Amino acid sequence: MTATIIDGKAFAENLRGRISSHVARLKAEHGVTPGLAVVIVGSDPGSQVYVASKARLTVEVGMHSEKYELPEATSEAEVLALVARLNADPAIHGILVQLPLPPQIDSNAIIALISSDKDVDCFTPASVGKLTIGLPGPVSCTPLGCLMLLRETLGDLSGLEAVIVGRSNLVGKPMAQLLLRENCTVTVAHSRTRNLAEVVRRADIVIAAVGRPNLIRGDWIKPGATVIDVGINRVPAPERGEGKTRLVGDVDFASAVTVAGAITPVPGGVGPMTIACLLANTVTTASLIHGLVPPRDLTA
Ligand code: NDP
Repeated sequence: MTATIIDGKAFAENLRGRISSHVARLKAEHGVTPGLAVVIVGSDPGSQVYVASKARLTVEVGMHSEKYELPEATSEAEVLALVARLNADPAIHGILVQLPLPPQIDSNAIIALISSDKDVDCFTPASVGKLTIGLPGPVSCTPLGCLMLLRETLGDLSGLEAVIVGRSNLVGKPMAQLLLRENCTVTVAHSRTRNLAEVVRRADIVIAAVGRPNLIRGDWIKPGATVIDVGINRVPAPERGEGKTRLVGDVDFASAVTVAGAITPVPGGVGPMTIACLLANTVTTASLIHGLVPPRDLTA
């Protein structure tokens, strides 16, 4: 058996097309141009590529984009001052601070300052609380993208066994909340989980969000399961030339594709969905800030 490849790139492109239409309407009918500010501190090459493509796609859908690339040695006070300024800026409707931040900066202090009206990645304690108790509010971009791909692939998720590997605030925990909302039976595994392979083997849905290249192998996967690989890992690729690298996920794609029913590739799976959902969330916050009803067809 060979799994269906879930084409996140194509799905995200389609979603961005719908976002462009909403942005055009917001501009034409209400004079509102949604604006997204992305803040990155330090020079992690992976994050920089990611932030550059966020900025490019923000402009491509017709939105206003601001990118703040601060040096590694930036102080916490400087980042706090920038976030305070963006909170007050009427041209900005979404603020994303790229994590992780360098060690001299307390991420929690920065996150706590982001205005909940502009919290497009569901970082703040208030947004996380709303997500947990099911109140309307922003939904974390990567888990939202995963959910959209799952709905597209499986339709109704009710009653399915979902195993999420990874319990970060950014991915694993909000993913668990979203799948609970979908009436899945949810297990969250992590580095202390015993017999991880057996836990994963129970799953109809596997979400891998670990950051360990090829950790989850085909023989861990229940035949026919749907596998969503969030991991982005850069590994050496000597076949491409000396010093070259390539991206791989947390799932060993070559073995998993022969067992799973459907699987996301890396790259081209979850990554493009994360960015598209960030843009969709910014359209939502821009609408709400201006007292308008946000579009319903952009989020799952
Ligand atoms: P974190 O490092 O914050 O969390 C990793 C999680 O994996 C932790 O909960 C950790 O457990 C768990 N873990 C680590 N090693 C193992 C192991 N051997 N077995 C089981 N669990 C383990 O990472 P993130 O959640 O931020 O990101 C995860 C991956 O997803 C990364 O590769 C990242 O680059 C990628 N990513 C991709 C995005 C996209 O758009 N595609 C967006 C965001 C992230 P413990 O809590 O016990 O330490």
